[in-house]
Amino acid sequence: MMMSGSAEVVLLGTSGGPRWRRDRTGIASAVVVGDAVYLVDCGYGVGRQMIRAGFGMDRLRGIFVTHMHSDHTVDFLSLLLYGWYENLEGVDRPVTALGPGDRGTVPPASPHAVKTPPTFSPQEPTPGLSGMARHLMRAYATDINDRLRDNLRRHPDELLSVRDIELPGDVGFHPDTNPCPPMRPFDIYEDDRVRVTATLVQHSPIAPAYAFRFDTDNGSVTFSGDTGVCNNLLGLASDTDVLVHEVIDEQWVHQRYENGRTEQQRSMIDHHLTAHTSIPDTGRVAEKAGARTLALNHFVPGELETPRWHTAGAYFSGNLVIGQDLHRIPLGGS
Ligand SMILES: [Zn+2]
Repeated sequence: MMMSGSAEVVLLGTSGGPRWRRDRTGIASAVVVGDAVYLVDCGYGVGRQMIRAGFGMDRLRGIFVTHMHSDHTVDFLSLLLYGWYENLEGVDRPVTALGPGDRGTVPPASPHAVKTPPTFSPQEPTPGLSGMARHLMRAYATDINDRLRDNLRRHPDELLSVRDIELPGDVGFHPDTNPCPPMRPFDIYEDDRVRVTATLVQHSPIAPAYAFRFDTDNGSVTFSGDTGVCNNLLGLASDTDVLVHEVIDEQWVHQRYENGRTEQQRSMIDHHLTAHTSIPDTGRVAEKAGARTLALNHFVPGELETPRWHTAGAYFSGNLVIGQDLHRIPLGGS
């Protein structure tokens, strides 16, 4: 990697879940190294947040999608469809987009289902990122052909290159029975500014679900993606400068499900606290990993900052950031 000036992490949007919030836009972050911008997740409003943060779309080099939940992907294609008119055509080479591959099989029905729900789109029920992009582009073919022929826009293939992340073959991953096997971080992307490594995390039944780490000459930042506590993330985030971590308020979960009065409510509490990380556990994870800064994002519930989020600081001796949209965290003290 070459020296490339300053670097920073920008929390573009910080809301968790497929909800429109007054005070937080959808989940998305940017890693900025010199003039290069890399996105992690494409929640609602990601393009507008990039503009608000002052990033021209011609600076975009990579898009990294942690998992296929809609709150992480809903504005993926708008980066192309609107990006055409926001100088995405200024990129030197197609933007690399990397995300999970096809799950391969629909998740098992909840044990509380009275009967098995019908499968939507049975011919392709679980596309990964490249499948999603292919379907979306076909769905927008009228617009895309209009822009190509009437506005003489550059072809999507010259602007965006979408690939599924290939897991190392020997990790023993299975989307239902072994969604988060113990594994070493593996390389998924490298250029002259960043090296990106990934690991599987625990967000079952969504699988694969990834966490990403960006190493730069200015320092490192690790994104948990959506996950419960898992050792793979600890390995990936070991000694990282900034850990951007999802969070769920465990008191809210217990209240929402009436402290588990029924078996179904207990299982919903379990589900939320297995697939997501409680406030104390975000602090514990950051402390164990040796992170210097813990920046919380993907807030569930997504209301504005409350004193609750600060309680993570009781478990973490480093710098705690309660994320807000457009919050900037410098890397390497730059
Ligand atoms: Zn999710």
